[in-house]
Amino acid sequence: MQTQILGLLTPLMALFFSAAFVVLWRAGGLKRHVLGFGIAYALSAIGFLLTHFLPTDAFYVFHLTQIFYTLGSVLIIASVCDRVGQRLHLGSMIFVYLGAALLLAASIGLSNDVAPRLVIVNIGYGVIFAMGVTTLLTANRRTILDHFIIAIMAFQAVDFLARPTLTLLFEQAIPSEVYRDSVYYSLIGLALGVKGVSMALVLIAATIAEWTTALRESGERDALTGLRNRGSFEETMGDMLPAAHAEGRALSLIVADIDHFKQVNDIWGHQAGDQAISGFGELIAAMVRECDTAGRIGGEEFCIAAWDCSNDAAQGLAERVRQAFAALRHPGLNDNVELTASFGVATARNGESYMQLFARADEALYKAKTRGRDRVENAEKRHLDDTKAQPDAEPIALKKTATG
Ligand code: GH3
Ligand code: MG
Ligand code: MG
Repeated sequence: MQTQILGLLTPLMALFFSAAFVVLWRAGGLKRHVLGFGIAYALSAIGFLLTHFLPTDAFYVFHLTQIFYTLGSVLIIASVCDRVGQRLHLGSMIFVYLGAALLLAASIGLSNDVAPRLVIVNIGYGVIFAMGVTTLLTANRRTILDHFIIAIMAFQAVDFLARPTLTLLFEQAIPSEVYRDSVYYSLIGLALGVKGVSMALVLIAATIAEWTTALRESGERDALTGLRNRGSFEETMGDMLPAAHAEGRALSLIVADIDHFKQVNDIWGHQAGDQAISGFGELIAAMVRECDTAGRIGGEEFCIAAWDCSNDAAQGLAERVRQAFAALRHPGLNDNVELTASFGVATARNGESYMQLFARADEALYKAKTRGRDRVENAEKRHLDDTKAQPDAEPIALKKTATG
């Protein structure tokens, strides 16, 4: 009776972890690998329950339970790889599975000693866990939790490859009818429990870490464009500027503002205006490099911090974005309406703060507005009529393209 109850501990724990992963996945809107962990633990729990309740001397029970254990193991390895953007080589896994299945089929009816088939299946699991470890080692990402996951997977591989052989050195043969009373059975219960719990705890820690990162990132993003919001952009600049000064790299700032945007809202409504802002955000995101930072710092105002980018190169980038935006068509606005934006560019001077750099780029933007809009002005370059710049008396009407 006591063994019966103790034997339920492992499947119940596996079911508990399965539920925990599914709840975390749903509540946090997390990626599919977390659901994969949940399903893998559920499959293992089914395997444990079948092993526990069905008669051990029936040959089909062994194969039925192995199907659940194999699916659970492959799914957990695939999900752990998916978590770091790696794909498991399923063809090789199937090859290992078929190899083990063929060896098992060949051993049918030879004797009622379960030892040979235990060695075969455990080596199979050892090989697929080892393959998972090699796949994980090729991933670029390596946080402390990634190291833990790799270590536990490696421990799984070593345990599967070594434990059965070592145990059987002592126990020699295990007739199927006394399998549950064998040393092997007690040891495997302990090993699976320890491995299952440690793996689940590390994966739960990794999942919670992913959840908090996702929450932090969503708090730093502007909902309409997906770019950084003002606070996050300024915070990033607070790191980028000293780094650029320290490394002696050029850091250029581009400030952009959509022209006559009030008219867009007035004529086509706020929703169409939102779509235009979102279109500008997408365009900027697509045109900057990974090392640059872009943010929406106001209603229809955007900033690009171009890392390791000379003043001329930044002016070129601003010009390309200006042309691309003018060529963009916006849903909700008449097809023949050409929205434009004005740009100011400045490049950080030695020891300059973000506020000082921004003020100079913003001043250049103001000049672009006063000089007719739809243009790029550069704070580092003197303009002939810098002294006589005058604001427009009245905002000019939105441009119409030739087809209009
Ligand atoms: P200018 O060419 O001088 O920039 O003229 P403008 O009309 O664009 O003037 P300004 O930049 O001062 O106006 C910004 C307008 O953008 C004011 C506000 O109605 C609108 N706006 C600000 N935030 C949003 C937003 O999130 N959605 C929409 N649809 N409009 C916004
Ligand atoms: Mg504007
Ligand atoms: Mg504005």
